[in-house]
Amino acid sequence: MNVFKFGGASVKDAAGIRNVAEIIRTQAKNTLLVVSAMGKTTNLLEDLVRAYVYQLGDVQKRLERYVRYSHDVVMNELGGDFSLVQQTFDQLGYDLDQRPTGTFDEIYDRIVALGEVVSTQILAAYLTHIGVPVRWLDARQVICADTTFREGRIDWEKTKQRISEDVACEGVTLTQGFIGQTSDGRTITLGRDGSDYSASIFAHCLNAEHVTIWKDVPGVLNADPKWFDETVLLDKLTYQDAIELSYYGATVIHPKTIKPLQNKEIPLYVRSFIKPDAPGTVIGNFKLNLPIPSFIFKINQLLISLHPNDFSFIAEDNLSRIFARFAQVGVRINLMQNTAISFSVVVDTNPDRIPALLELLKQDFRVTYNEGVELITIRHYDQQTIDRVLINKNLLLEQKSRYTVQLVVREVA
Ligand code: ASP
Repeated sequence: MNVFKFGGASVKDAAGIRNVAEIIRTQAKNTLLVVSAMGKTTNLLEDLVRAYVYQLGDVQKRLERYVRYSHDVVMNELGGDFSLVQQTFDQLGYDLDQRPTGTFDEIYDRIVALGEVVSTQILAAYLTHIGVPVRWLDARQVICADTTFREGRIDWEKTKQRISEDVACEGVTLTQGFIGQTSDGRTITLGRDGSDYSASIFAHCLNAEHVTIWKDVPGVLNADPKWFDETVLLDKLTYQDAIELSYYGATVIHPKTIKPLQNKEIPLYVRSFIKPDAPGTVIGNFKLNLPIPSFIFKINQLLISLHPNDFSFIAEDNLSRIFARFAQVGVRINLMQNTAISFSVVVDTNPDRIPALLELLKQDFRVTYNEGVELITIRHYDQQTIDRVLINKNLLLEQKSRYTVQLVVREVA
């Protein structure tokens, strides 16, 4: 038993779906397929939810013109019996005529989850149409979570039990990424880009032999080609490096994906759906003698420094107060460092949250900050790689551990 995950880019149009169907026809055998919503559907559904909940008008028009129309175009090109898809959209149209009930996040999950439902209904109908047998499974019946809407936390015991009861280990089963259900039967999502995580949950619970994430890149590269001319494909990566890289901001794999696989030593392949015969990257339990340095660049960062007003040291009481403030406004810390009387953090510039955070911090601290800085993380660094990224940059802060260095820099003016 193995697991394939196809993201939104792989099924964004009819050509994409045909390509995915060909990979399934030739390579899937006793496989669970986990599929995302088509292309940018999740963003369109998010807009639809806002229009519906805040009564911005045009709700039906948004559904028809943007969401439904883009799916209709694909179905018309593909051919097949898509009556289930039409039923899903008809039901959504009916629901959007009713008054919104429940919290925003709960309504969001109920509606946004349908992106994955329709993409898998389309793929299932097309596979049937071309004679590839497949069983469609509603992931909401087996992925069980708490009620943290939009960021559901998995109930592992229940999920394991449901998966072992409901997922056949033989043949090809097609299900959705990103979605699940609360114990009282309400739809929940696992956080944006959560389909990788879904694939990993299924693989863990099924004791899969391996997982393959099919992407539009050849595998895991040592840097984002947006920032680096000479990127290198990493043919092997350890679980530890994959966790660290995704934690520091590498976007190729969702950060929560690796741990459930590592716990069962299930290898994760990252392969290209454009070149499906190429080997890509394998993530597993390896000893790598000379790991290749990997780079992660985060721009639009804010470096905040806090100085206690009462000249006290930065110790447990100050730290707990600082962390409570960050948790209160929901700002994630990308890097932190302290001296005796100052505490520095780097965070993403987020205009919705940072002003409130700064106001709170100013109650107890003198606050200074640098806007528009960059955070560069190098895993398996050496001095040469550090020097290379520091060309034309001013170094504001540096933090080194055995394998990772983080540099907070600003472009030389
Ligand atoms: N469709 C969801 C998103 O765009 C989940 C995923 O694609 O992983 O965030």
